[in-house]
Amino acid sequence: MTVSAAVIITDVVRDGRPVVGYGFNSNGRYSQSGIIGDRLIPRLMRAAPEDLLDDEGTNFDPFKAWRVMMSNEKPGGHGERSVGVGVLDMAFWDLAAKVEGKPLYQLLADRFNKGKMDAAVSVYAAGGYYYPGKDVSVLQDEMRRYLDLGYDTVKIKIGGAPLDEDLKRIEAVLKLVPSGRNLAVDANGRFDLATATAYAKALDPYGLKWYEEPGNPLDFDLNREVGHVSATPIATGENLFSMQDARNLIRYGGMTSDRDYLQMDPALSYGLVEYLRTLEMIGENGWSARRCIPHGGHQFALHIAAGLGLGGAESYPGVFEPFGGFADDIPIEDGHVRPSETPGIGVETKPKLMKVYEDLSA
Ligand code: MG
Repeated sequence: MTVSAAVIITDVVRDGRPVVGYGFNSNGRYSQSGIIGDRLIPRLMRAAPEDLLDDEGTNFDPFKAWRVMMSNEKPGGHGERSVGVGVLDMAFWDLAAKVEGKPLYQLLADRFNKGKMDAAVSVYAAGGYYYPGKDVSVLQDEMRRYLDLGYDTVKIKIGGAPLDEDLKRIEAVLKLVPSGRNLAVDANGRFDLATATAYAKALDPYGLKWYEEPGNPLDFDLNREVGHVSATPIATGENLFSMQDARNLIRYGGMTSDRDYLQMDPALSYGLVEYLRTLEMIGENGWSARRCIPHGGHQFALHIAAGLGLGGAESYPGVFEPFGGFADDIPIEDGHVRPSETPGIGVETKPKLMKVYEDLSA
């Protein structure tokens, strides 16, 4: 996969150096250089300072930057635009936290969560992909690696093999984890209703943590019907890219607020500005932020989870590096990880990622 990475260099000086904001897009989509270069950056460069700064003129205002980026854009049809906006939105939040000299989770807790935050965030290891020649013993080796790293919950793909073969894969992993609650499965939106329902019934006895994206992410009818027959919690939302799409899921997708999980990824869906709107929307519909476990496995989602009190975050150990992953020097402990304490989202804690940005800025 390709990725878009953005650097915003400012004339604000902290510790003798200009404050620099970093953004990138989460995995699952490809780079958005056309939209970013042709539409979003030119609007930001043309904007007057007061259109990007807070009312005191002392810090960047990501909400104002968002409005500048989206000026003259039509509603709906989000496509890849939400990813482009997400890249720059991340950089503005990184800047806002750095100007205040705080890690992003702290800024979010102070501004939006009455100062409350989680010291560590529950994370699970997503993997279990299909590869030619990958039998259950190789799958078990992969899962053992995750458990050895400190994870207690893992996720594997389903639907790339016939149902009976997938059940063997699930049973092989269940031998390694304490209970079904420590294993989730992900169909990546590939099933039709009949297949999704057959899997739901077959999964029931295992008591798994969740059954992810059984059908197409925009097929709310299918999602509702599968949720209705499934005893396993349903998790979905990583391919919904706006508050309005997420609202349609809540309205029509049959999701249950005390059982199911929402996985919208702020870095793919118009950034944190839009994610805050989504959290407000789910709250109005009786959902707790604790039901949200964002897709992506990146530091941005980790800080958001810690600062806004989400239910956790995804992790892809060793995959999608250097953009994916958390601070290099903070281990996973008992299935939890702490966000970095450096100001911003912590790009500086990942030397390989910093090298990418240094090359970009050169
Ligand atoms: Mg998924």
